[in-house]
Amino acid sequence: MSVGRVTLVGAGPGDPGLLTVRGREALESADLVLYDRLGTAELLRLCRDDAELVSAAKAPGRVAMTQEQINDALVAGAEAGRYVVRLKGGDPFVFGRGGEEVETLVGRGIAVEVVPGITSAIAAPAYAGIPVTHRGVSTSFTVVTGHEDPTKAATQTDWDALARVPGTLVLLMGMGRIEAIRDALIAGGRPPDQPAACIQRGTTPGHRSVRASLRDLPDRIADAGLGPPAIVIIGDVAGLDPDWAWFEQRPLLGRSVVVTRARAQASELTARLRALGAEVIEAPAIRVEALPPTPEVARACEELHEYELVVFTSANGVDGMFDALASHGGDARAFDRGATVVAAGPATAARLARHGLRADIVPERFVAEGVLEALVDEPLEGRRVLIPQAAAARPVLAEGLRARGAEVQTLDLYATRTEPIEVADIDRALTADYLTFTAGSTVRSFVSALGDRAAEAVDGPRVVSIGPITSAAARDAGLVVHAEADPHDIPGL
Ligand code: SAH
Repeated sequence: MSVGRVTLVGAGPGDPGLLTVRGREALESADLVLYDRLGTAELLRLCRDDAELVSAAKAPGRVAMTQEQINDALVAGAEAGRYVVRLKGGDPFVFGRGGEEVETLVGRGIAVEVVPGITSAIAAPAYAGIPVTHRGVSTSFTVVTGHEDPTKAATQTDWDALARVPGTLVLLMGMGRIEAIRDALIAGGRPPDQPAACIQRGTTPGHRSVRASLRDLPDRIADAGLGPPAIVIIGDVAGLDPDWAWFEQRPLLGRSVVVTRARAQASELTARLRALGAEVIEAPAIRVEALPPTPEVARACEELHEYELVVFTSANGVDGMFDALASHGGDARAFDRGATVVAAGPATAARLARHGLRADIVPERFVAEGVLEALVDEPLEGRRVLIPQAAAARPVLAEGLRARGAEVQTLDLYATRTEPIEVADIDRALTADYLTFTAGSTVRSFVSALGDRAAEAVDGPRVVSIGPITSAAARDAGLVVHAEADPHDIPGL
């Protein structure tokens, strides 16, 4: 039997990008992951498909596991020979009860590793532009739990002493007792007009903050409606220039955006939207599927050197062509040295470059009509043209080239299939701020996946489309197009 072990992994404060490299490796190889709430859904996608994922937190219809049950589950997993990861918010040892888990595991002779995480105590202020120490302003920071009632005599927290320490005070779990804590600190000698701030759900799309004097902070928190999880920071660093709040200046912070692209292709759009501060809801409406090879595909692969013009209309078409070539024992050398290679847009050109082929022509408008415009000066009469494409692609391009005398061969290499969307994702998508579409086929699939709830999309989220063809498909489906990208590509969107 293999020997089990347990790794405690700090998940960081919420922004999935703040997981450590070692934490990621551990998640990728775990057999069993026991995770807390605190916005870790994104991180669980790193786990193996066959890993068992167990939530230790409260969920609808289920109570949270007790610490004892968690300890028992970790021991049982490791003793069954499994690699167990215990994923905890922030840092496992900062108010995370990680110490108790290590104590239990070591007591049972189980091998333990601890991967520190970025604690919310420093990350939430950092995203709000507040350094916890600053030369000439604060030479220390103290992280304290606000869980203990400062009006009770028997607490472990010496609020008087904390009031007298001149540095920064960072309060976790303090929202429920913020008034009593403020009173205790002022009574202990903190100036009532000392700067303070509260940061809710720091580093996440739900990040919000307020700044006020220590005296006024509880009222400002109530006015703004901030609630847990949140940290409170008290000290002169909270009075530094509010313009340092870089994260809060992101244009889409607090906005939710639905990405309907196929999951395999969503990552660039998703990453760019997140970088703008948006909460991204991936609700893939389509899936790209390679089609089984046909005799035409086999012939085209053999005769590839005879084509004088090859027009790639999508990155999927590029992959499909090179997959087909590879299965016939070929590679980029199969193209005629003198052939003109056209990519319909920069993403297609980039994919070609990955396969070692440089596009000679990239049109200014990234639609089929744009390709035709880009080829106006190209002699086409009697020339052999190959178009690797999606099944049921619009015939505009092939017809336009034939009209100019070209001998056109289209190759259907892949198809887009409608993907069912889960009810929970439909709910989130219909209440989001923006709905993005990157192809007409995605619009049709998305609307059909909505079924009888399609009407809710009409005056629901604002629709943003990648270009005119997609916009037309959206209007045909009864949607109102709020904005259209220009240029018609992902950066434009
Ligand atoms: N181990 C965690 C803390 C667990 S205690 C860490 O190192 O961050 C839970 C408390 O952490 C919450 O009540 C809140 O005060 C704070 N917290 C956790 N995530 C937060 C976030 N994203 N923004 C603000 N506070 C957060």
